[in-house]
Amino acid sequence: MGMKVNESTIYETALARGVSRRDFLKMCTALTAAMGLEFSQTEKVVKALETKKRVPVIWMEMQACTGCSLSFTRSYNPSTQSVVLDMISVEYSEVLTAAAGHQTEKSLQDVLESYKGEYVLVVEGSIPENAEYLTVGGKSAKQILEEVAKDAMAILAFGSCSSFGGVAAARPNPTNAVGVKDIIKNKPLINVPGCPPIADVMTGVIAHIVTFGTLPELDTQLRPMAFYRHKLHDKCNRRAYFDAGLFVESFDDQGAKNGYCLYKMGCKGPSTFTSCAEMKWNGGTSYPIQAGFPCIGCTEDSFWDFGPFYTKRAAIPGTQVTMNPELVGGITAGVLAAGLVGHAGITAIQNKKDKEKKEVSN
Ligand code: SF4
Ligand code: SF4
Repeated sequence: MGMKVNESTIYETALARGVSRRDFLKMCTALTAAMGLEFSQTEKVVKALETKKRVPVIWMEMQACTGCSLSFTRSYNPSTQSVVLDMISVEYSEVLTAAAGHQTEKSLQDVLESYKGEYVLVVEGSIPENAEYLTVGGKSAKQILEEVAKDAMAILAFGSCSSFGGVAAARPNPTNAVGVKDIIKNKPLINVPGCPPIADVMTGVIAHIVTFGTLPELDTQLRPMAFYRHKLHDKCNRRAYFDAGLFVESFDDQGAKNGYCLYKMGCKGPSTFTSCAEMKWNGGTSYPIQAGFPCIGCTEDSFWDFGPFYTKRAAIPGTQVTMNPELVGGITAGVLAAGLVGHAGITAIQNKKDKEKKEVSN
């Protein structure tokens, strides 16, 4: 059995790293903001971090590109990142581990046994229901997920792949890729979609669980409301141009140089819930739309199948000047919903064909 290393409190861990009381309080203030909480909640955060122990984390890779891990390790808010790193101890990570083969398997089993019921499970990547696409140590991805989820305190699906299936689940979905929610139904689960998610959103969600020992408020897709409550369109820096009917018509036209709205270039902002416009990327430097690139809706279920990324999703009625943005959002969502139904139907047909093929070959 492995040794437990999370016996000291988060505050004690920070002190041992040479953090002063004053800096600790500053970190707590930054963390409160990072969790999307009111300033008045800071005292609660301080109390929690003074008394709570570090939370062990198991970070599993499924069908992933590890882009989510990369994003996580590039959190640009140093005070938030360091306090989050004091809050958790990553006990098992396939990306960061130095071990290989049977050694890695053993270390996972040790961690599962040592921290039964205490650990937070992070999953990156989709789970192929066709076992032949991902098998480790003789176990299918589904079996591995079920095994590591069994004694988890909570599960975080980091990225659109583990939330909804992501790129691997795009038509024709040859691996029958699904998200964690499709397999694990009896555990507290938070979806943190994005391809990848913003680092500060990931750290904010972890911080909430560790601080309060509860799940943050979630939307119907199990996304934390603090970070996914607004449509990008409602916070977009180009919104005034949308309302004025001023659009980019091609990536090199005068409208593009003027920074006009990217709706006609396929922007999915009107139906995408994300914090990109408020939190931005790379330490608040910018985000795709600010850089001249339409939103592709990467925090939404099945976004890879929404259609060509740079194609307008709905006819825009009238002159734009008097347009009701909610109506456009509705139209876009309608088109997208139709796409999703289409996807489900096509996948079902594909699955049926695959099944028939198998039966014939048997
Ligand atoms: Fe990679 Fe995107 Fe999937 Fe994350 S969500 S594993 S960044 S493809
Ligand atoms: Fe911004 Fe896209 Fe909405 Fe235009 S359509 S205002 S670029 S989110």
